Amino acid sequence: MEIKTISLDPRITVRKPGTPNPEGECVVYWMQRAQRALDNPALDVAVELGNELGKPVVAFLAPVPFYPHANLRHYRFLASGIPDIAEELSKHNVGFVLRTYPDDSLIKFCKQVSPAIVIGDENPLSEPEQWRVRAAQHLKVPFWTVDADVVVPSRLLGKEHYGARTIRPRLQALLPQFLIPTKLIKARTPWNKPRDLHSLSPHEDFTAGWSLDRSVSPVENWQGGTRRAISILADFAKSGLRNYPKDRNHPELSGTSRLSPYLHFGHIGPLTIAHAVQAASAPAAAKRAFLEQLIVRRELAVNFVRYNSYYDSFECLEPWADRSFAQHSGDRRPIVYDEEQLEQAETHDPLWNAAQKQMVLTGWMHNYMRMYWAKKILEWSPSVATAYQRAVWLNDRYELDGRDPNGYAGIAWAIVGKHDRPWFERPVFGQVRYMSLASTGGKFDSKSYIAQIGKLERAHV
Ligand SMILES: Cc1cc2nc3c(=O)[nH]c(=O)nc-3n(C[C@H](O)[C@H](O)[C@H](O)COP(=O)(O)OP(=O)(O)OC[C@H]3O[C@@H](n4cnc5c(N)ncnc54)[C@H](O)[C@@H]3O)c2cc1C
Repeated sequence: MEIKTISLDPRITVRKPGTPNPEGECVVYWMQRAQRALDNPALDVAVELGNELGKPVVAFLAPVPFYPHANLRHYRFLASGIPDIAEELSKHNVGFVLRTYPDDSLIKFCKQVSPAIVIGDENPLSEPEQWRVRAAQHLKVPFWTVDADVVVPSRLLGKEHYGARTIRPRLQALLPQFLIPTKLIKARTPWNKPRDLHSLSPHEDFTAGWSLDRSVSPVENWQGGTRRAISILADFAKSGLRNYPKDRNHPELSGTSRLSPYLHFGHIGPLTIAHAVQAASAPAAAKRAFLEQLIVRRELAVNFVRYNSYYDSFECLEPWADRSFAQHSGDRRPIVYDEEQLEQAETHDPLWNAAQKQMVLTGWMHNYMRMYWAKKILEWSPSVATAYQRAVWLNDRYELDGRDPNGYAGIAWAIVGKHDRPWFERPVFGQVRYMSLASTGGKFDSKSYIAQIGKLERAHV
C-alpha cells in the first residue's frame, strides 16, 4: 500500500503535511491515549508506514506528573499496564522507549532517533489536544494522528449531536466499514535500540521521585494492563453478558463489565471488546444492549467533548436547560452541603453516601449510582455551576476512569440534561430529569448495596 493511500484512511488526521523524510531512520509512534499494542489502529498505521518505507518502528511513551487532575491512584494504574505494552510490542518487532519528566520531550526524542514521520493517537480532551498542536508546530517531519480509541472515527460525525437518537443511525451506517476484524501487522524491519538511547525499564516505578498529588491512595482491587483487561472481558463474555440487560441496573450485583478503567487508559480498545461480544454465545438482545453502551453512548460522549469546548463546565448546556435554570435560579434549596461534606460522604442519604464511598475506596462506581450521585449533587449545591464543578472535581479525582469523555458527558447528562429531553417542571431542577431516593433505591436491592459498601469500608479501616 502506498503512503498516499494510507493517509486517506478516515481515522487519520494529517497534523503536519509533507512527505516522510527519506533520510529518516525510523517511524516514531507517539503513544499517548492508546496504551496498548493489541488492536491499536495508530500502531498499525505506524507499522504499515514503516513497512512501506522499509524502516523500523519505535513507540515512545512519556507519562508526566502534571497531567490535569491525575493523582497517585491514576498513575499506579497507568504504570501497571506498561509491562504488557513492552511485551506485546516486541511481538510486533516494534521498539519501545519509556521516559518520564523531565526527559519526556517528544521533540528531543525525535532529534535523537531522526524519524521519517511521526504518528500519534487521538484524545478529544483539550489538554492533550494542545500537546498535539504544539508537537505539529515543532516537529520537522510529517505528523499524523489516528483516532484509535473509537470504533467510528469521530470526525466523520462532523458536528455535536443532540443525543443518542441522532447519532445512533449515523454510527450504525458506518459500523460495517469500521467494525471489522483487525490483523496483527508485524514490522518487517526490527528496531535495534541504539546503545546510548535512554529508556526506563517497563517495570520501574517512575512515580517514585515525582512531586504529584498523593492524597488519593492507589486501589489494590484494580490491576492495569491489556492482559488483565482481556481476562476480565473473557469472563464477562462467558458469564456476565447474557444477563446484562436485566442486571446492568443493579449496583448490588456485578452486572456490568467493569472495563471502563481499561478503556480509559487505552489498555484495551473498543474493537477488541466489540468483537468478543459479537462472538460470545449470549442472546442477541444482550449483545445489542451492551454494544449500545460501548459504541453509541461512549462515542456520543467522545462526540460531545470533541465538538463542545465547554464540556467540563455547566455552560455546555442546551438552550432549553439554560432557560429552565434561569427561571429556577432563585428556588429555595432545603438542603445544601459543602464540598467537604460531599467528599467525606457526610450527607443524610445512606444510598448517596454508599455511592460516594464506593468511588473513594474502590476507584469505581456503578453507572446507576453515578446518575443518582450527580443528580443529588445538583440538588444539594448552591448553584448549577457549583454542582457541575463539584461533580467534575470528585469524579476526576477518585474514579479510575475519570478525566474521560464519558465522565464529562455523564455529568452533563445528570446535571444539565445534556443528551436528554425536557421533563416535568420542578423546583431547583427546572425541566432537568429528577431522581429521588425512593424511586432509585426501590429499583434494586439498595439495602444490600449499602451493606456491601459498609463491609468494604470496615475492611479499609
Ligand atoms: C455522572 C456520571 C459520571 C460518569 N463518569 C464516567 C467516567 O468518569 N468514566 C467513564 O468511563 N464513564 C463514566 N460514566 C459512564 C458510565 O457510568 C461508566 O462508563 C460505566 O459505569 C462503566 O462501567 P462498566 O465498564 O462496567 O460499564 P458497562 O455497562 O460494562 O459498559 C461497557 C462500556 O460502555 C461504555 N459505557 C457504559 N455506560 C456508558 C454511559 N452511560 N455513557 C458512556 N459510555 C458508557 C463504557 O466505556 C463502559 O466501560 C459516568 C456516568 C454518569 C451518569
